[in-house]
Amino acid sequence: MEKSLSPGLYIVATPIGNLGDITIRAVETLRGVAAVACEDTRVTGKLLHHLGIKQRLIRYDDHSDEAARDRLLALMQAEPVALVSDAGTPLISDPGYRLVRTAREQGIAVTSLPGPNAAVVAMTLSGLPNDRFLFAGFLPNKTKAREDVLAELASVPATLVFYETAPRLDASLAAIASVLPGREVAVARELTKRFEECRTGSPQELAAHYEAHPPKGEIVLLIAPPGDEAVGEIDVDALLLAELAYVKPSQAAAAVAKATGLDRKGLYARAMELK
Ligand code: SAM
Repeated sequence: MEKSLSPGLYIVATPIGNLGDITIRAVETLRGVAAVACEDTRVTGKLLHHLGIKQRLIRYDDHSDEAARDRLLALMQAEPVALVSDAGTPLISDPGYRLVRTAREQGIAVTSLPGPNAAVVAMTLSGLPNDRFLFAGFLPNKTKAREDVLAELASVPATLVFYETAPRLDASLAAIASVLPGREVAVARELTKRFEECRTGSPQELAAHYEAHPPKGEIVLLIAPPGDEAVGEIDVDALLLAELAYVKPSQAAAAVAKATGLDRKGLYARAMELK
């Protein structure tokens, strides 16, 4: 770095998969600070090794005790300190909130270096209305709580953006199908990585697809705003045909029955006709 960094907190976004997605300023800052606060020293150690940077790493998250936070704040009063998370933009469903809040209260200079963020990448890729979007973090784990959150957000006139994990995708799609039927949904998976995918459809279509092809990796789930119900009626034939490309009629009927709640026997009869 040409000029030395002044003391303070530097929030630095890091790649969400593709290691090429790091800014020149981020690299210079990570090289120029006195220490890097991070969620997991092994994860950040690997990134810094890849960048050819040797740094002092300090483990920090919002559950770290007050003494650890105070030490970090004292350090950034005197020296420049970076904050990174395992991937993407710190504080966005990642640690840092308490640290930034206290640093600002103490008059410490805080700056944020923009970079990768899975929600924004998914939003740009999905083709869903982008004039307004609402980022809502992770949906709750429990069925009732998950449905309550979706019901609470049902009338928000914006595309809804959630972080998701592969094992929970089926439960979330089922909840969307029951609470927000007719909405177009996008599943953005493995963004910036080799097997990046963005698939759109009704929650039933997507559930049937991922039932036949269990998803791997990291996922962002997006739901179109109300009034954009382009999906309309469930196209049972399309769902069955999508399944029949890979599995037998009985399995296709079972998958579509699970995704839509429709009668399995009737679906089996239709699958036999379509085959
Ligand atoms: N701070 C990060 C950011 O700026 O995107 C998000 C951290 S949050 C703990 C992790 C979640 O982000 C994952 O469960 C997934 O929903 C989303 N995510 C992160 N990387 C992703 C990727 N490459 N593709 C799809 N989703 C991703």
